[in-house]
Amino acid sequence: MTASPPLVDAFDLVIFGGTGDLALRKLLPALFHRFLDGQIPAGSRVIGIAREGLDDDGYRANLRKVLLETGGAKDKVDAFLGQVGYRSLDARKDEGWDAFAALIGEQPEHVRVFYLSTSPELFVDICNRLGEYGLNRGKSRVVLEKPIGRDLASANQINDAVGRFFDESQTYRIDHYLGKETVQNLLALRFGNALFEPLWNAGHIDHVQITVAETLGVGTRGTYYDRAGALRDMVQNHILQLLCMVAMEPPSSLSPDAVRDEKLKVLRSLKPIDEANAAQYTVRGQYRAGAAEGQSVPGYLEDLGNGSKSHTETFVALKTEIENWRWAGVPFYLRTGKRLPERVSEIVVVFKSVPHSIFDASAGPLTQNRLVLRLQPDEGVKLWLTIKHPGPGGLRLRHVPLDMSFAEAFGVSQPDAYERLLLDVVRGNPTLFMRRDEVEAAWHWAGPILDAWGSSGEAPRPYTAGTWGPSAAVALIERDGRTWNEDSE
Ligand code: NAP
Repeated sequence: MTASPPLVDAFDLVIFGGTGDLALRKLLPALFHRFLDGQIPAGSRVIGIAREGLDDDGYRANLRKVLLETGGAKDKVDAFLGQVGYRSLDARKDEGWDAFAALIGEQPEHVRVFYLSTSPELFVDICNRLGEYGLNRGKSRVVLEKPIGRDLASANQINDAVGRFFDESQTYRIDHYLGKETVQNLLALRFGNALFEPLWNAGHIDHVQITVAETLGVGTRGTYYDRAGALRDMVQNHILQLLCMVAMEPPSSLSPDAVRDEKLKVLRSLKPIDEANAAQYTVRGQYRAGAAEGQSVPGYLEDLGNGSKSHTETFVALKTEIENWRWAGVPFYLRTGKRLPERVSEIVVVFKSVPHSIFDASAGPLTQNRLVLRLQPDEGVKLWLTIKHPGPGGLRLRHVPLDMSFAEAFGVSQPDAYERLLLDVVRGNPTLFMRRDEVEAAWHWAGPILDAWGSSGEAPRPYTAGTWGPSAAVALIERDGRTWNEDSE
């Protein structure tokens, strides 16, 4: 692959939490890939920060191992590491901050990105110190990882505290789902084709499904996860963002605020779910021992250990609606969980049946058209159509997909979402990042669901690891005469 000229000037990217899982597994490999594309200009600096007492060489050695394991060529990895450094700092202590500020000050012209890949409890301390040392000024940007709070009040606390030092235009709240190719393709499909938009409404769409399914359990992240649960971890942010991309009105342009204004309107139009209707519209579950990918696996409570009696949900399915003219009466079924049978994220738009069938019963059933946007794995788009089964016999109908796998169509593996989003921050393009009012609107909707679950005192419904959640999740959609999508071909 030939590298293209960089689209940005040399910059500094500081990763607080530079030794953590996210940094080593996602952020630094993503930066390495952009380095291979020629998009990390000479003179740029990537600086990892954590408390661990490493020096530059120690950090580089750890990172070298990670990048070689992911298939990086030795010479390229070493060239990239030449731009990487490390500082041992405790966000909560003074020591080391003078030297760090001096290091950043060596390149006053650089765009500076401070990526907070730490627990959110440290966001305020880190921003305070960045402010104290004047590192928030000029071309500085701060990236906030999820979760932004655990409810509206705590999200506001974080946003207020960060906002004291970084204004909204400098604040990038990342939701990596928005950086996925398929999600951006939704913009291209909807607004780059005359075909879909006339049908994209309650007159023609029967319902929409969004599924984000994981085969993994909580693994080593049990402590974090148990405080969050599936609604906070997946629905309040990623799934609602996907829903917005499906449901928003055409923005007047792709300018950041034009897109985010439209998403905000969707969030504010979501039908409220609260104590009065949570039992009807939501199902929450918790996995029990079962099997994942052919192996026996323990249940959630065993994963947590210490005789935990946690009521945290590891699965949620819910039905919502968007109360506006375009979508009135169209259900959006959302589902996510851990220890499900497949790792799959997809958006399924199911169109209404034809108004009248001209075919005999012998032709077979008419099936509704479906547009399936696969986010992972195998990113791609399938449009399911009814066609005639080939052959000279009687007319028989078949349901087949127009199938576009991005990897097959374009012959390259799809870049990880962080590869795009990190450079968007450097370029100063916040289109694919959440504005504060979006986060607030999302909590405003999700909060009453959490409250309703809390006040019901009920435990989540058990489901066996390796199944599609509690049977009530199937009933949620089947009582409306619909089924969860199963890609049959
Ligand atoms: P992690 O593995 O626990 O890493 C936390 C990092 O923060 C470590 O580098 C740790 O290093 C550093 N740290 C902790 N206390 C510190 C302090 N007082 N001062 C400076 N550094 C400190 O966590 P993670 O999984 O990478 O997640 C980081 C954030 O991203 C979390 O908010 C998480 O919710 C979010 N997130 C993670 C993922 C993921 O896939 N991992 C996905 C989405 C969002 P030291 O202990 O050496 O200081």
